[in-house]
Amino acid sequence: MTVPAAASFRRIGVFGGAFDPPHLGHHALAVTAIAQLQLDALHIIPTGHAWHKSRTLSDASHRMAMAELAFADLPQVVVDGRELARPGPTYTVDTLLELQQENPGAQLYLLIGEDQAHALPGWSRWERLPALAIICVAARADSTGAKGQFDALKAQVPGLTVLNMPPVDTSATDIRHRATTDQSLVPLVFETVARYIDQHHLY
Ligand code: ATP
Repeated sequence: MTVPAAASFRRIGVFGGAFDPPHLGHHALAVTAIAQLQLDALHIIPTGHAWHKSRTLSDASHRMAMAELAFADLPQVVVDGRELARPGPTYTVDTLLELQQENPGAQLYLLIGEDQAHALPGWSRWERLPALAIICVAARADSTGAKGQFDALKAQVPGLTVLNMPPVDTSATDIRHRATTDQSLVPLVFETVARYIDQHHLY
């Protein structure tokens, strides 16, 4: 019998998003997930063609570079450009299938913010997701805050786990708005990211 390598039993987080730009809300979610789920690795996966976003995203190379800067202090993080290399619309289910194949025996954790959690039933082949990964949700500051807000979702999504994270009132939309109106970005993004945005005139 072949004994699988110890590395096969790793706990791997998967956190996808436009990351346009990556901000302190994303970072807080990553830190929380690494600690609470005891992740060995966390793949930060900038989306390729974001079929659900109406605006054109910043160039992939910029979003990769900003993600490298934003998560630089977390040794578990791998900034993973696989979706950027995929032609056409990219779907999380395909990414999870790939990661499962690459990491036999590993437990995958799919990290999503609350807004995306509520949109989950609209995702491509979403019914397959709970079998591929434990879906972990973080509350967002603009949520209703009602106790039991995830109960309906929990009934729909087997194994849905809620991360214990104080909501961080930040969105990439807000940061892009601040950039276009010459307001400081530093309370909402790391200084390295703010400098990158400025140097490359991103928004
Ligand atoms: P935009 O404002 O452009 O829609 P965003 O701030 O929601 O962007 P995304 O890159 O689209 O950022 O989000 C990637 C993932 O991070 C999503 O699952 C989203 O729900 C989650 N997320 C974003 N901001 C926060 C936050 N402040 N707290 C918790 N989760 C967040």
